Amino acid sequence: MAADRDYYEILGVDRNASQEEIKRAFRRLAMKYHPDRNPGDAEAERRFKEIAEAYEVLSDPEKRARYDRYGREGLGAYRGARYESTGDLFEAFRDLFESAGLFDFFPGGFRGRQAARGRDLVVEVELELEEAAHGTTKTIEVERQELCRECSGSGLAPGRRPVPCGYCGGMGEIVHRRGFFQVMTTCPGCHGTGQITPRDARCRECDGRGRVFVRRRVEVEIPAGVDSGSRIRLRGEGEPGENGSVRGDLYCVIRVRPHRLFERHGKDLLVEVPIGYPQAVLGGEVEIPTLEGPRTIEIPPGTESGSVLTVPGAGMPDLRSGRRGDLLVRFVIEVPKKVSRREQELLRELAELEQKRVTPRKKSFLEKLKEYFAQPSGSE
Ligand SMILES: [Zn+2]
Ligand SMILES: [Zn+2]
Repeated sequence: MAADRDYYEILGVDRNASQEEIKRAFRRLAMKYHPDRNPGDAEAERRFKEIAEAYEVLSDPEKRARYDRYGREGLGAYRGARYESTGDLFEAFRDLFESAGLFDFFPGGFRGRQAARGRDLVVEVELELEEAAHGTTKTIEVERQELCRECSGSGLAPGRRPVPCGYCGGMGEIVHRRGFFQVMTTCPGCHGTGQITPRDARCRECDGRGRVFVRRRVEVEIPAGVDSGSRIRLRGEGEPGENGSVRGDLYCVIRVRPHRLFERHGKDLLVEVPIGYPQAVLGGEVEIPTLEGPRTIEIPPGTESGSVLTVPGAGMPDLRSGRRGDLLVRFVIEVPKKVSRREQELLRELAELEQKRVTPRKKSFLEKLKEYFAQPSGSE
């Protein structure tokens, strides 16, 4: 009887074929002899059962070892099941197909392949520095794909089904011969699914794609301390997966807009504060901006242009600890472009006084100047 053919022969593989090769051979043959594709063909059904039996034994290392040693009789209770009715066949096949990496390989569809997780989405979220400092809630709009409600994602018009792909014969793969080798590639006609949906069988709502674009508003909780490039992940807010698999995630990438006053250096902020010459010389109270509003600080007499004063704890909070950095205040002495008559008088008076009271830096400059002109090659 044909039922006594060698299992390796049935699957058309070598005796030392790897599990991967056995799986692939089974997959190919099962697709070919599937009763759905060969309606009313008793021979195809018989081959299909035979293939299933062979695969059940050879895909299990323990059963395979027994079979290799003792042959079919050695399997005893382990012997591959015989399938009587087609109903049993499909029920029993569930495990086999799953172990071969084939899903939903049942009457009604060859959906095949492992269901992929949904795509992740990325959106940029722009923030003001103050928002980054204190944390905020933002409502963002995301355009994402959702399963089509009309066809529940199948892409099929009511009552219609996909048909086996004509290009690859429903196998999802194409075999190329390269000398002695066989190379398998994914079928370009059906992208490996083994099936296609004819134009007139497509769902009208989504044109057969199974998905539609939907604009959606999502609220994002933004913690205090984020910086440009920080990513906030919203689990499951991405696109739906294939065949009901896990949804992807939504990543919000933060971009903090440059601030008019504050320059950010990690956790520290730098602000430039102009002061007048008298203030710089005499010292006193100066109003400076902080994230919380204006604040008055004391500057010491003789503050030089470009000198930096640190205000501890007035910088940005750390994303994890919440501990705040410092505010660095850089003083710049401002030279007025316009002065009143009275100011002019006072400045002249000051200048005259300065001639007599020469400051150390100025002195060295004057000395250098004198030396320069004293040299014979200098002027003449
Ligand atoms: Zn649809
Ligand atoms: Zn194809």
